[in-house]
Amino acid sequence: MESLTEKMPLTEPPQVLLHPNQRVGADMVRWRKAGGGKALVRAVQDPAFVREQIRVSDLRGLGGSGFPVWRKWEAALDELPKPDKYLVVNGNEDEPGTFKDRLLLEQTPHQVIEGAVVAALSIGANRIVFYINPDIKRPLVALRAALDQWQSSDLLELASTALGKPLGLVLCPGSGHYIGGEETAAMAWIEGGFPFPRGKPPYPAQAGVHGNPTVINNVETLAHVSHIVRNGGAWFKSLGRGAGAGTKLYSLSGDVLHPGVFELPMGTSLRELIFVHGGGLLSGKPLKAVFTGGPSSNLLTPVDLDVAMDFDSLRARGSSLGTGAMIVVSEGTGIVKRVAEYMRFFAHSSCGQCPSCKTGTATMSRLLDRIDTGEGTVADLNTLKSLCTMLPGSGRCHLVNGAVLLLDSAFRHFHEEFRQALH
Ligand code: SF4
Repeated sequence: MESLTEKMPLTEPPQVLLHPNQRVGADMVRWRKAGGGKALVRAVQDPAFVREQIRVSDLRGLGGSGFPVWRKWEAALDELPKPDKYLVVNGNEDEPGTFKDRLLLEQTPHQVIEGAVVAALSIGANRIVFYINPDIKRPLVALRAALDQWQSSDLLELASTALGKPLGLVLCPGSGHYIGGEETAAMAWIEGGFPFPRGKPPYPAQAGVHGNPTVINNVETLAHVSHIVRNGGAWFKSLGRGAGAGTKLYSLSGDVLHPGVFELPMGTSLRELIFVHGGGLLSGKPLKAVFTGGPSSNLLTPVDLDVAMDFDSLRARGSSLGTGAMIVVSEGTGIVKRVAEYMRFFAHSSCGQCPSCKTGTATMSRLLDRIDTGEGTVADLNTLKSLCTMLPGSGRCHLVNGAVLLLDSAFRHFHEEFRQALH
């Protein structure tokens, strides 16, 4: 991972989350010397000010939802504790191509913890659960060490005094399942069960962990909070481009010269990300496609190179920003094989609660493998197309929709490749 971070630009644009001063690992003394803790003090004095700055900043859920953070917080603020109120820090990060949260947890854990404590103070939560992918060992070690320092710090005491009851910080390694990142699945795991997603309503703000009001925010989302409190919501918003607000950590991987995590203005174009920061494609090959937001989204193609990578602009193109993961595919790479690999991932990740998802993703995976190995028939292709119309909306969570989105867009852009692969 160190080699990836070396690729990050160090001067322009302004780095908020990954500024060298912030990258102090679990060293709390250095973090406080760099200004750490000031946002928490401000939140203790005036939680309403914090909520207003978050609203002005237009900070969105950066785990993939793009949902306005202030609206989630307002919904939980209106709920009384029953008897507790939870904030869950979602660091499940298990989708292919996404590797930004683990960087924050490893290099700037105090920044994430302070953001979570400020959020808790703003909504009146007295329990914070750090729900983290169990397979990212070094980030877990750094976060655990940082949390140990918080347990005996004056900052936690200050926050508890302001809340009027002890503020609990708990580390909960996740299940290791991709689907465990879905917010109701995360709550089920924290309660001690299997991470099965459930339908909504009730929404977590009304009945979340153990029936208590709960807000779930992604690691990257919370890492922004203390900067917004210290510098103001308008400042954060101005860091974005066009309709985008603030900065975003883009995970760039695939057939590029310099893969890595890049902190850039929200709304940076795909062209700039790939050709300026990523150094272009391997061997100078032409771009063929980009899988965005992990694989559960519409593919982008060279005609999309100048689209702004923010939630609204990508949604308008029928795609999505998701987690900000961009997996680049160059000419010469078979799309059928890549889609078959991702479909295997979806079939493996289905929790099996919804028959349509369990059998649908397994069937799509089996048929795609058959086509990829030259054994597929026209009937197989037609079955896949039918599934693309039958399955959307049939599951309790987004997994089955994501699988169909990917396949459907691959058909739209690369139908001839599928046809040529048939037996
Ligand atoms: Fe589980 Fe799939 Fe249903 Fe989601 S859609 S709850 S992953 S079976």
